[in-house]
Amino acid sequence: MSTINTATGKCRTDDLGITLMHEHLLIGWPGWESDTAAPAWDRREARRLCVDRMLELKALGVTALVDPCPIDLGRDVEFAAEVSQAAGVQVICATGLYKEESGAAPYYKFRGAFADTVAEMTETFVKEVTEGIGPTGIKAGVIKVATGPHQVTDYEKAVITAAARAHRATGAPITTHTDDGTMGREQLATLTGEGVDPSRVVIGHSCGSADLRYHVDLLDAGAFLGFDRFGLELLQPDRLRLASLIGLLGIGAERQIVLSHDTVWCWRGRPLPLPVETMAPKWDPRHVFQHIVPALRDAGVTQAKIDAMLIDNPRRYFAGAGR
Ligand SMILES: [Zn+2]
Repeated sequence: MSTINTATGKCRTDDLGITLMHEHLLIGWPGWESDTAAPAWDRREARRLCVDRMLELKALGVTALVDPCPIDLGRDVEFAAEVSQAAGVQVICATGLYKEESGAAPYYKFRGAFADTVAEMTETFVKEVTEGIGPTGIKAGVIKVATGPHQVTDYEKAVITAAARAHRATGAPITTHTDDGTMGREQLATLTGEGVDPSRVVIGHSCGSADLRYHVDLLDAGAFLGFDRFGLELLQPDRLRLASLIGLLGIGAERQIVLSHDTVWCWRGRPLPLPVETMAPKWDPRHVFQHIVPALRDAGVTQAKIDAMLIDNPRRYFAGAGR
């Protein structure tokens, strides 16, 4: 029986029901600590907001949520554990590092002049999965990597290589961030080149591309595709995400797609200039259930295919049972 590290302990893979594979309770955009005139972080209010949202999702049948916040994006796993505990929804936290342009790259580039940073990153990721994150005792359940648009930098490749090695040492699956629907193929090639089974990888934000060739290449290579930014119309209209998804489901890709929104519930630093509801009105973690699933049904997608994406695939991804 396989188990998953969650913020509140271990859960059995078979106990996962509907699982959102990419949502964020909290993000701190790198540099947020520098904004010392920002109002103090109101942890209590943030927790209340997150618990309310979790309860709304629980009412829709959600049993678990992956919060793939990497180490360098304001991660707070104790906050995730508190919210999970209060709402009764599992939260799976991540180890790993974000893309070069907005992550911890300066630190590792400095060290890279003297040390083997791939080895150091690998050690960190393994420790966070097997022993826990800092003094919290909370263990990461997934490993996050990321690339910026249209290129994989040397730093990002180092992170991906370290993630692959940490995966091989621990069995924790890998989830990725991509920009503009690019570099998923390159991410996967580096991972599989290090011996990672592609069925343990979600290429995140694959719905940022509407190029079916890109999607089919990733399917053929054996990865899961994250259609995980529904509602984020600022980056890509839902119509394109949905058109791609319906097409892929039409060719039987339902066993390799997972659904989510990449919503961010709380932000460190100053509040956003406009409320999120104004900037991105559909960017709500209930959106898949309220609008996308009905649209899929209208297009003739069966409940079995919808269940595959929301329940079976997260289980298989964590269990590593292969296909
Ligand atoms: Zn994300």
